[in-house]
Amino acid sequence: MAADGFSLSDGAASTRPAIDALRDALPAEALALDLPLATLGRWRIGGPADAVVTPRDVDALRAALMVIARTGVPHVIVGDGSNLLYDDAGFRGVVVRIGRAFGGFSIDADGVVEAGAGLWVPSFVRQVIEAGMAGATHAIGIPGTLGGLVTMNGGSQRHGIGENVVSADVLARDGTLSRIEHADLGYGYRRSALQSGGGIVVSARFRFKAGDRHALRREAIAILAARRAKFPRVRANCGSVFVSDPALYSLIGPPGMAIEKAGLKGTSIGGAQFSPDHANFIVNNGDARSRDVLELIHLARSSVHNLTGIAMDAEVRHLAPNGTMRPAHEVAATLFPDSGQEMPR
Ligand SMILES: Cc1cc2nc3c(=O)[nH]c(=O)nc-3n(C[C@H](O)[C@H](O)[C@H](O)COP(=O)(O)OP(=O)(O)OC[C@H]3O[C@@H](n4cnc5c(N)ncnc54)[C@H](O)[C@@H]3O)c2cc1C
Repeated sequence: MAADGFSLSDGAASTRPAIDALRDALPAEALALDLPLATLGRWRIGGPADAVVTPRDVDALRAALMVIARTGVPHVIVGDGSNLLYDDAGFRGVVVRIGRAFGGFSIDADGVVEAGAGLWVPSFVRQVIEAGMAGATHAIGIPGTLGGLVTMNGGSQRHGIGENVVSADVLARDGTLSRIEHADLGYGYRRSALQSGGGIVVSARFRFKAGDRHALRREAIAILAARRAKFPRVRANCGSVFVSDPALYSLIGPPGMAIEKAGLKGTSIGGAQFSPDHANFIVNNGDARSRDVLELIHLARSSVHNLTGIAMDAEVRHLAPNGTMRPAHEVAATLFPDSGQEMPR
């Protein structure tokens, strides 16, 4: 236990100068130390992060970034952690969490919607619907922040929010705020240039078509009902693990179907299991470790590859203890080398 009343694991020694500077730069409630990452993610998996910063506004975020730049401490940006696999060993650095303080929703005279990165996605979609706008309804059931959605190009029913993004306001590592236009955001299926860690989305602008709010409300209710019927709800999970692949889709169907055809639906490793309800979901049965999830990801990827010749890629991203964030299948491939077959990494 340190003299000032908190203890840190040995692995955190390198984070200590940054923590001292963050304590000077931020109000006490914006900084948490040695916080289990399991409390910050939907899978309820993950060891402690040395420090978690939850800034209350752009100025506080900028102050935190200045400390991070000055001390060179590893850092990552997270929203609600609904697409993240945190490691059993935690993270030796600073997690910057974009929370509800980064809310806000407005519509300008040209009908462009501007909304904050910390807004809860279902709340964003409801406000778009109530404004009589169509195009966001597919995202009504997605349990993350708007910043996460814009970064992941999240969506459902073959849509991604990127279709409607006009621009994103991004705070760079050096504290400068710039507006990145749609053409430079590099949107692809569940992909964007923002995933390469270029900066922090603080808000985004969207354009939608006019729609009938009564019809849109009915559509939203139908989408939520269909999701409730299809997706597991009791056990902790991170939604779909693998992204759909057009070649696989035409051969067998979506990833869940391919995993089922490979005989893996319901299969468990440790505390993790391919959901018996929907095989593209991995559920935490209570004591799952990140290694269990990664092993299941490797098993599904290699089994489906054996069956079809197609290697599925994970949508879920893994945070390593050193701060590297990569699609989980890439990490699984290094942990569990191929058993004699050639698969792309
Ligand atoms: C039950 C369930 C159902 C789901 N259904 C769907 C679905 O239908 N469709 C779908 O697309 N996804 C779905 N997801 C996945 C997830 O909800 C989305 O990807 C969501 O948009 C992620 O938001 P988040 O705030 O949780 O981001 P996080 O998981 O915290 O982060 C995801 C990535 O975005 C980055 N990031 C987050 N916020 C910012 C920011 N402000 N600036 C820069 N980078 C940032 C992180 O660094 C990370 O790389 C589901 C998840 C669950 C648990």
